[in-house]
Amino acid sequence: MYTQWRFILMTLDPVHIGTGGYRLGRVDLSIAREPGTNLPKIPGTSLSGAVRTYAAYRYERPQCAGQGQGDEVRAKKPHCRDRNCPVCYTFGYIRGPEGGHAGTVSIADAQLLLFPVHSMAGPVWVSTAGRLREAGLTVACPALSHGECATSLPERSIPQTDRASGAPVRDRLFNVGWLLLRCRREAVQVQPPSGAVEGDVAWQAVVRRLVLVDEGLFPQVVNSNLEVRTSVSIDPATGAASERALFTYEALPRATWLWGDVVEDDYRPDGFPAGNEKAASLGHTRPWHVVRDGLRLAEYLGIGGMGTRGFGRIRLTHEWKVSHG
Ligand SMILES: [Zn+2]
Repeated sequence: MYTQWRFILMTLDPVHIGTGGYRLGRVDLSIAREPGTNLPKIPGTSLSGAVRTYAAYRYERPQCAGQGQGDEVRAKKPHCRDRNCPVCYTFGYIRGPEGGHAGTVSIADAQLLLFPVHSMAGPVWVSTAGRLREAGLTVACPALSHGECATSLPERSIPQTDRASGAPVRDRLFNVGWLLLRCRREAVQVQPPSGAVEGDVAWQAVVRRLVLVDEGLFPQVVNSNLEVRTSVSIDPATGAASERALFTYEALPRATWLWGDVVEDDYRPDGFPAGNEKAASLGHTRPWHVVRDGLRLAEYLGIGGMGTRGFGRIRLTHEWKVSHG
């Protein structure tokens, strides 16, 4: 018995999910990427760690956050391992005297859906028709070849007539970041599935400013428009910048949209501990509800690195059930 849930989220701050800090090209601290496409992503493990921690906050069970390794030295406690604990039921716990339990959800990597880029018509959100469809959205868009884009921007943003002669111009040049593309202003429409719960008004504004490009161009648009910042390490002894401590790091910019899946594999015969008092008061009746609440807290508490520099907040904007069996 499994159920697949899909979510869409939007970054409210720049988000930096590091790769362990090796130098790659022009930046010191690069972000996690999909090997095949070289596109940034939010790894499922990072989401899962944050979501578990916030779910444990919600249930006021701090010991059920984290990896659960009991550690005398740092006075950490192992997970509670209580069969009545919704956090441990959802995310699992490591082996204790009575054996471990693997958890009942798996959280996949969150992949890019819409990426914000500046243009001559102001901010636009770039994606591809294939990417939007893979996420389960309905897309109306003409077929595009390399170097072409299609947009949902209004006519006045990209005039389709020549200013001097008034003659119609079919292919206007339009910039996406520094890239200049032939723009086809044909009907581009994108819609979430009818059953999706939509939690954010920003979506309506964004779908009116879409620019779709072909799959081959998308990684270039993204990778040349990531946020790159420079910072310095502070020496805790002096409170001033450490010598030779200047470093650069990249991040997903604010207002990037991503999508991902959570699969519930609710195999345990005893089922979700819906009788837990806190679960009842939160209205949680299944593991997905625990995950969703954790995701919602990430709107305030953030994910990833550079949190003290104001990074990491994400907002859950859409959710729907994809399938079950
Ligand atoms: Zn627990």
